[in-house]
Amino acid sequence: MTDLATPVNPAAVEAHSSNDFIRRRNLSAVLTSLHHGGPRSRADLVNETGLNRSTVTVLVAELMELGLVRDSGTRAATGRAGRPSSSIEVDPTVAAIAVYPDIEGVTVGLVGLGGEVLSRIRFDSASPLPAKKMVKAVSSLVDGMRADIERHYRVVGVGVAVPGLVRAGDGRVLLAPHLNWRNEPFTETLRQALGYPVITGNESSIGAMGEVVFGAARGARNLVYVNGTSAGVGGGIVIDGALLHGTEGYAGELGHTLVNSSGRRCYCGRTGCLEIEVSQSRLLPLLGRTRIDEDELDVELGVARDPAVLAEVSRQVELLSEALTDFVNLFNPEIVVLAGYLGALLSVSRERLTEAVRIRPLGGAGRAVRLERASLRSRLMLVGPAELAFGPVLRDPANFS
Ligand SMILES: [Zn+2]
Repeated sequence: MTDLATPVNPAAVEAHSSNDFIRRRNLSAVLTSLHHGGPRSRADLVNETGLNRSTVTVLVAELMELGLVRDSGTRAATGRAGRPSSSIEVDPTVAAIAVYPDIEGVTVGLVGLGGEVLSRIRFDSASPLPAKKMVKAVSSLVDGMRADIERHYRVVGVGVAVPGLVRAGDGRVLLAPHLNWRNEPFTETLRQALGYPVITGNESSIGAMGEVVFGAARGARNLVYVNGTSAGVGGGIVIDGALLHGTEGYAGELGHTLVNSSGRRCYCGRTGCLEIEVSQSRLLPLLGRTRIDEDELDVELGVARDPAVLAEVSRQVELLSEALTDFVNLFNPEIVVLAGYLGALLSVSRERLTEAVRIRPLGGAGRAVRLERASLRSRLMLVGPAELAFGPVLRDPANFS
């Protein structure tokens, strides 16, 4: 995961207090700026990085040499009088493979540097796939893309978003309850099957960073992201520009926050967790549906007049708002982003939920917490995992070959 603030290890600075170390850091800053911010002129890069013009010129030339950026051929206005300078952009033929396993199958996509989704392909399954079968399904999807990849792209690696607890370091999946995975060496098995480096993370942590880098929370330094899917509710928390990982990487399980002490039993063993109480699976029978996507849900909720549906939405929104007030008290975010099913609830209950983040928290009235719906929608679980795979190149472009 590309944390926004990568701390400089003082020991490393000591050991490499050379031009080479500084050059690598600056290459990373320029490439990351172009990847996250889009094409820009050398003059814009000078303004953004604070480096001098000749340094930026040398860095851009080196990134071009590495095949990571190119002249976009368009002219960027510099905002000053005089001739506009040419614009630099990332080379989107440098790509990452994104993998998103869910309880109904798996989506695999190819994402270019710069965040464009170049292609996507889906395998549907009637029931959640065991980890070994998931690796097989992903392998066959990637094999189907190989001819195109080998002809047109340079793949840096594979990023995977898993709805569960993923151990930092080796990517072992400790628990993905809705996939029925326990202690699976999924990352290593997939790496062996595909022959690319594989980095795996938690779906909601990846979603949080995806929205910070390319979506509704672009540029935010402090974020609470809460995501509702058919596999429950997950959270991702960004503090001072860095994703909150915790000791082993499991931080952010906001779905298991108690919201109703007389509620239903959660699979985690406790009663009345957010994800068991605020769940689209409790709404679907009332809508006469067995499955629904986010766009269809928006339509259904927008026209709903059935008192039973309205009462259930109202009950869930009330419990969600209690949880959101807790999260604002806990993390003091500048923005709260709701994704998936929770984003759909926001669209029909903006006033109530805004009150939960703005008025109800301690010292509330007048606090300026923004509440937004995730904006990347179906792109999020491709762009987000791809960002994991791009991480090593963004951190040290000079290593790219
Ligand atoms: Zn629970």
